[in-house]
Amino acid sequence: MEKRIGVLTSGGDAPGMNAAIRAVTRTAIYNDMQVVGICRGYEGLLEEDFVPLVVNSVGGILMSGGTRLRTARCEEFMREEGINAAVKILKRNDIQSLAVIGGDGSFRGANELAKRGVQVVGIPATIDNDMSGTDHTIGFDTACNTAVECIRKLRDTASSHDRMFIIEVMGRHAGFIALETGLACGAEYVVVPEIQFDLEIMKSRLERAKKRGKNHSLIIVAEGVMSASELAEKLKPDCPYEPRIVVLGHIQRGGAPTSFDTVLASTLGSAAVEAVVRGETGVMVGRINGKIVASPLETAWKQKHATDEKIFKLIDILSI
Ligand code: ADP
Repeated sequence: MEKRIGVLTSGGDAPGMNAAIRAVTRTAIYNDMQVVGICRGYEGLLEEDFVPLVVNSVGGILMSGGTRLRTARCEEFMREEGINAAVKILKRNDIQSLAVIGGDGSFRGANELAKRGVQVVGIPATIDNDMSGTDHTIGFDTACNTAVECIRKLRDTASSHDRMFIIEVMGRHAGFIALETGLACGAEYVVVPEIQFDLEIMKSRLERAKKRGKNHSLIIVAEGVMSASELAEKLKPDCPYEPRIVVLGHIQRGGAPTSFDTVLASTLGSAAVEAVVRGETGVMVGRINGKIVASPLETAWKQKHATDEKIFKLIDILSI
């Protein structure tokens, strides 16, 4: 009998999830497996919201944003009864293996299934890049590019009006998006959870920029530290510019994936199925220094994915 593999996307959506679904589906079919698409993450799993996936079902989705399988957050799956019910449903539907595309929350759920005998492999997808076991998560590069595109437009209006923009970016408790976009946009200062925020240094950098004749300033703040409006309140007294605040919000989660994310998602989706074929379980696939690696699912939340503090320093040097 052909082996049956289920594939689902869970938690926050990320550009590139569709490319991952396509890669899982086609690599599985290539390896003589049947593929079951599970809609709306663990919620759809508990409701048996399944759809058979064949080669053509995943045609035309490679370059689209969002997730065709849709995604959800599922409270019931956080409880023992929910997880046990999911195991029974998978057994009843002859689904022996599961590819979970999502963030660390989704991997915690996946790990519970693996502990109960389901063969599970995780594919890291979140715009936040806050997972260990891979240098980049699927969606991060697209989110940064989207943020940079928006900030470029803000920069134009900032220089026309001698303004300072405080731009709040996503990233949950991590500063990856903030640091990357800060460097790409020539920000004066970036506020991230990993590095102690110093109001005086921020002010001195704004003054430094003003003195050398710069007619606009950009500050990037990661949502995990404070909101853009809170930061504006702290800065207002003796600020050399008129601050404007912008919250980029969910726009960072949408849009077509960049080629970097499309390639990463295709590579990791395929690698996940290869791990299944090798008989691995309870692992996540990732790409570290250009090599595909499989690590225990727990790596995603037990090890902290360190931000590169050199970027913070570089932002200072280059905005001198
Ligand atoms: P992400 O995967 O993007 O980090 P969430 O943290 O919202 O997103 O997790 C997605 C879903 O994974 C949750 O709604 C829940 O169903 C499941 N999940 C999260 N944590 C656990 C856990 N500790 N045990 C079981 N399931 C979990």
